[in-house]
Amino acid sequence: MKYLAAAMIGLLATAVSASQNIPDKYPQSVLYSKPVEVIPHVFSSIGATGPGTYENSGHNNNLSFIVTDQGVVVFNSGANSQLASALHDEIRKVTDQPVVLVINENGQGHAMLGNGYWRDQGVDILAHVDAIAKTRENAGFTLQRMQDRQLEKAAGSRVEHANLSFETRYDISLGGVDMQVLYLGPAHSPGDIQLWIPQWDMMVTGDLTFHERMPPVFPETCTKCWLETWEEKLEPLAPTYIIPGHGHPTNLAQVRRYTRDYIVDLRAKVGAHIEDGGDLAGAYYVDQSNWSHVDTFKELATRNAGQVYEEMEWE
Ligand SMILES: [Zn+2]
Repeated sequence: MKYLAAAMIGLLATAVSASQNIPDKYPQSVLYSKPVEVIPHVFSSIGATGPGTYENSGHNNNLSFIVTDQGVVVFNSGANSQLASALHDEIRKVTDQPVVLVINENGQGHAMLGNGYWRDQGVDILAHVDAIAKTRENAGFTLQRMQDRQLEKAAGSRVEHANLSFETRYDISLGGVDMQVLYLGPAHSPGDIQLWIPQWDMMVTGDLTFHERMPPVFPETCTKCWLETWEEKLEPLAPTYIIPGHGHPTNLAQVRRYTRDYIVDLRAKVGAHIEDGGDLAGAYYVDQSNWSHVDTFKELATRNAGQVYEEMEWE
């Protein structure tokens, strides 16, 4: 009995914790995990909190959908067509309503390389103008890299740009649910957007927020702008429920710790290093031990520090 209880606790712990060491949580599907209903009518298939791999089929971000009486809105098409198709299978299990719109959180491969599947179903795809500019520039390369990693799982995927675009806000009213697709400002990647549902106090934030894993800082990331967008635009909206770009659904306090506080800390460390006359080579090794427990620390910590140094050098 004691062993059974312990085993059950073990099962529960596995079901709710994120770890990049768990290769797959849903062997019956190419999806990394089975979608969960986060709040009524809002579902999310939570991706791996590590890098995209063959084992996780490139599903290392969150693929969400909102069910209404007049159709379904999908947030992210996923890293390939097979993930898009598998998500569609899951949508069909919970509703007969058709998918009427797919939103790409930004121009990254795992946000948009499943677009071809949805366009073949006749579904419109919405993205920010800056995200579309980015996919026009380098989606060919992104597709190639995904194909090299996913092998036969990449079959059927192609580059398909969003056919609808917006700059600051795009309103959707569907089955009595008012949704706002927002561009709150620059954050992690060009054209990062959010899906805000005020009546449910819920935001699908895309890569504005990260949870349980380290946020990556790219050459095109402005960490100073990311913090400004956070303070000036996200905090005043104060959503109760958050589906982050990566990691389990949570609340604002938690993503503030793992995204904003991390960036503030890294900028403070790199800033002090610059004040002391430190160079780029030394910047890689500023102390980030506070964050060593989060996923992708090994892959990203030193790289992030170097990027922040190059950004702050000019401030
Ligand atoms: Zn992402």
